[in-house]
Amino acid sequence: MGVRVCSRCLYTENHPLGIYIDENWLCSGCKVHEEKDTLNWPERELKLKSILSEYKNKNLNNYDCIIPVSGARDSYFIVDKIKNEYGMNPLLVTYNAQYNTERGIRNLVFLRTHFDCDIFTLTVNPKSIKKITRATLRRLGSLYWHVLAGQTVFPVQVAVRLKIPLIIWGAHQGVDQVGMYSHLDEVEMTQKYRKEHDLMGLEAEDLISDEDQIFAKDIYQFRYPDNHDLASVGVRGIYLNNYLRWDTKAQHENMIKKYQYESHAQTRTFDSYNDVDSFVYSDIHDYIKDLKWGYGKITDHVNREIRLKRLSREQGLLITEEFKNREPIYSQQFMDWLGVSPNSLNFILDLHRNPRIWQRDEDWNWKRIDTYTQPPKSYVASNRLPSEKKCNFIISKDKSGDYIDDRYILVSKGWVA
Ligand SMILES: [Zn+2]
Repeated sequence: MGVRVCSRCLYTENHPLGIYIDENWLCSGCKVHEEKDTLNWPERELKLKSILSEYKNKNLNNYDCIIPVSGARDSYFIVDKIKNEYGMNPLLVTYNAQYNTERGIRNLVFLRTHFDCDIFTLTVNPKSIKKITRATLRRLGSLYWHVLAGQTVFPVQVAVRLKIPLIIWGAHQGVDQVGMYSHLDEVEMTQKYRKEHDLMGLEAEDLISDEDQIFAKDIYQFRYPDNHDLASVGVRGIYLNNYLRWDTKAQHENMIKKYQYESHAQTRTFDSYNDVDSFVYSDIHDYIKDLKWGYGKITDHVNREIRLKRLSREQGLLITEEFKNREPIYSQQFMDWLGVSPNSLNFILDLHRNPRIWQRDEDWNWKRIDTYTQPPKSYVASNRLPSEKKCNFIISKDKSGDYIDDRYILVSKGWVA
């Protein structure tokens, strides 16, 4: 039998984060997701509150915890919960991804303004970022390594430096998406998971090379703190989705209503909430994911919505068909930034195409080949969840006219009236 497809969602067995499909054609991600409807969430929230109370004013300095934020991805929801609902005083920490959209910049500025939080930002020099991105593009087919590395390590470095032991993250993808762990495992942040999954096996130190002209100073900001420093502060990173029933769509809609969070249509997915801060993420970055793995963000998002009973499997398939072959629209902007030509980018990307998924046809054009083994209809029927709600994504109001200053002033000023 070839590579199997889950009978409830659309994941296949060759998923990069590891999906297991059982004898009933149900994948590990769908199984763990069922816990969202069976766990005692009020009890789990009490557990979260008791963890938080351990850290409140522990070090007698200004901050109780660190919250990593960006101009998207549930940042508003997390800060609203932790600060406004649970009364913690967080230090917000952000790694500047440098692929920013105006919308993402505005979301971050309005975040600072709405929640009255201090924010700590790291913007690494563009020369090092470009050297690193050229190397990771060649070695991993990834233009996002520096963002993933920076976002997962800068908060940890700040925790050590400012001696704020507790870091609060949103969803752990190994739990929420692929069912690598149960919610009850209460997995916490580790350097090992970061290296193997977020960084695709490549630590910052591994990038040092004469050939790429990458030296220790270029990767300094991406290095994980050493164990001694982590232990002496007692650094610990928890994930909110182990304690709160995670529903990123509903959470973003609540934030649109409460704080006018800005959403926006995306190139390669119908989810207009999660990645509005980046011009590459749901664009050329996702296009490359499809070359390497045969699926893109649209499959992740459709599967999430099937599991949350807002889409049927059949509706999900139709939506996936609509988005999966969409061409990126910001490739040129990305190539201009990195200083590469279309020919050299295509040459590199072709090296990372998965030969089990992409083959040349007689005219030497790339063609997607489908070798998946689809689930028997009886299992699709028996594993079907009832569709309970509609699945519309809101495009919220654009705030571009709401401030007078130009964007450069907006960033430096740090707040909006
Ligand atoms: Zn599944």
